[in-house]
Amino acid sequence: MSRVLIAEDEARIAAFVEKGLRANGFATAVVADGRAARDAATSGDFDLMILDIGLPGMDGFEVLRALRADRVTIPVVILTARDSVQDTVAALEGGADDYMPKPFRFEELLARVRLRLSGGRQTETTVLACGDLSLDLRTRRAQAGSRTVDLSAREFALAETFLRHPGQVLAREQLLSHVWGYDFDPGSNVVDVYVRYLRRKLGAARIETVRGMGYRLVAD
Ligand code: CA
Repeated sequence: MSRVLIAEDEARIAAFVEKGLRANGFATAVVADGRAARDAATSGDFDLMILDIGLPGMDGFEVLRALRADRVTIPVVILTARDSVQDTVAALEGGADDYMPKPFRFEELLARVRLRLSGGRQTETTVLACGDLSLDLRTRRAQAGSRTVDLSAREFALAETFLRHPGQVLAREQLLSHVWGYDFDPGSNVVDVYVRYLRRKLGAARIETVRGMGYRLVAD
């Protein structure tokens, strides 16, 4: 079992990441300041660290620099605000590290964590398909039968979640947390609205409503 250290001072984000990782079979620990992050990352108890840039004590950049100066090679996935992406890219070195702009979807973070844990060797699936429906994750194109369909970023993310779980009932809350991340209002009907958009674009029969439970991508 891989052990992931989560260095994040915002409790709801730390809890969101921790819950998702545990559900995917990782062991986790959370620290909420930079010094604790540095100490824990140096301990050798972890296989990977998820490191927020905006941490009290030492910020994420300082933590990363200190670790590398001490020749601590733990892979690091940095969480960064979208407007700091350039600074973050400049701070990465040697391919051991990656970054995730906030806000992010859990699936995206999970893919990066898995990739870093495999030393970057894992080849990621680039096309997801179910029957004659397919999504190309690189070109962000959807294909329904012979039609190429344009999807917005959210529609694409929702379609991707369905295609990763064909035939499974996905609850609204599950879809909310996968597609809208931690930045959602749990009472929102946004999932229903976007399922409607997807049905219009991909064909109404592809996504079934399972009463009182959620939605299911029809796998044929
Ligand atoms: Ca922070």
